Amino acid sequence: MSEKQPRVMSGMRTTQSLHIGNYFGALKNWLELQKQYECFFGAMDWHAMTNAYKKPKEIDEYTKDIIADWIAWGLDPEKNVIFIQSMVPEHLELSMIFANLTPMGWLERVTTWKDAKEELQQSDAYNLGRFSYPVLQTADISIYQASLVPVGKDQVAHLEISREIVRRFNRLYKAKLPEPKPLLTETPLITGTDGRKMSKSYGNVLPLTAEPKKIEKLCKKMVTDPQRVTREDPGNPEVCPVYDFHKLYSTNEDLQWVMKGCTTAGIGCGDCKLKLAANINEKMADALAKKKDLLKDSRKLDSIIVEGSRRARTEAQKTLAYVREMMGFSDYSPWGDS
Ligand code: SF4
Repeated sequence: MSEKQPRVMSGMRTTQSLHIGNYFGALKNWLELQKQYECFFGAMDWHAMTNAYKKPKEIDEYTKDIIADWIAWGLDPEKNVIFIQSMVPEHLELSMIFANLTPMGWLERVTTWKDAKEELQQSDAYNLGRFSYPVLQTADISIYQASLVPVGKDQVAHLEISREIVRRFNRLYKAKLPEPKPLLTETPLITGTDGRKMSKSYGNVLPLTAEPKKIEKLCKKMVTDPQRVTREDPGNPEVCPVYDFHKLYSTNEDLQWVMKGCTTAGIGCGDCKLKLAANINEKMADALAKKKDLLKDSRKLDSIIVEGSRRARTEAQKTLAYVREMMGFSDYSPWGDS
């Protein structure tokens, strides 16, 4: 791992298994980033706890499932540091330090808190952990002294509070933690099986990795062009969610087959969906086999997780020692637990 590569930090909350929206919105970018940056990729289970705290066992299961998916789809656990957030306690320590220097007003203004108040209250997630989420997020980045955070264009503003917190820390203690900068990445809007934005809460997700039969079943249930009522009616692929999925998974030849067949009523929606399922299953086959292999022998996956988290912790401890030093706290490292 070259020291010269800029350091990137990114993570995913572990509240559900991955769907293809997570792939095209994040994982696909990570697979590219690993080629040119030193990357820290975290399974963020403390963040998952902010709203899924009633089901911690599920969080734990999703955490492993998600890491298995990352590796199955090509994230290299040797080149990248792949870790579980809760296995690196320094995240919480730095978060506590940052919490003290973060004025309440900064957090109250965060739109994902302000605008989601009602929804959070209804789901019993209007809590301190969720409120202080941006502080922990800042610690997640700064504990590795990462200088870059991959974000979509519409999320750049979310990083601003992290930059403000780090600036404040640096000013107060004359420190030099890097101010994280956004690394702009593509985050296309992925529609779900019903044509709305893909979201677990809508029940319209297509899993990133699943058995072929399940994919076929989900494809069969997909919403189509509402104007195409019978097999004899020509349809319009441009308003059909099935065609949106074809654009992600099918070859140009198949796209032309759909376009021509649909607009002339030459094919039925059933044919179109079966072709889509076959194309998805073909693209998923390798990753599915790798994921099953990883989950079958849990010792293999566990050792990858432990090793990645150990590497993450080594870096986190260095940062925390620096943070304490800059704050003027005594160095008790001879009494440390590592
Ligand atoms: S043929 Fe395909 S693209 Fe056309 S309406 Fe049916 S499912 Fe949609």
